[in-house]
Amino acid sequence: MNPEEPVTISCPYCGESQVKVVDLADMTGEYIEDCEVCCQPMILVLSMPANKLTATVTREDE
Ligand SMILES: [Zn+2]
Repeated sequence: MNPEEPVTISCPYCGESQVKVVDLADMTGEYIEDCEVCCQPMILVLSMPANKLTATVTREDE
């Protein structure tokens, strides 16, 4: 199994959809990715209910 999976997210700042490749070895925590469009830091929290990878994205300042 490939430990890296693409996940589609929407930027909480500019709303742009984009795909991030995440390392499933890091599933336990949250980490920060910069938006490809507006370069703002997004906080990604990964979860996998029913074997489907999902990412919850929040702004760093919330
Ligand atoms: Zn953005």
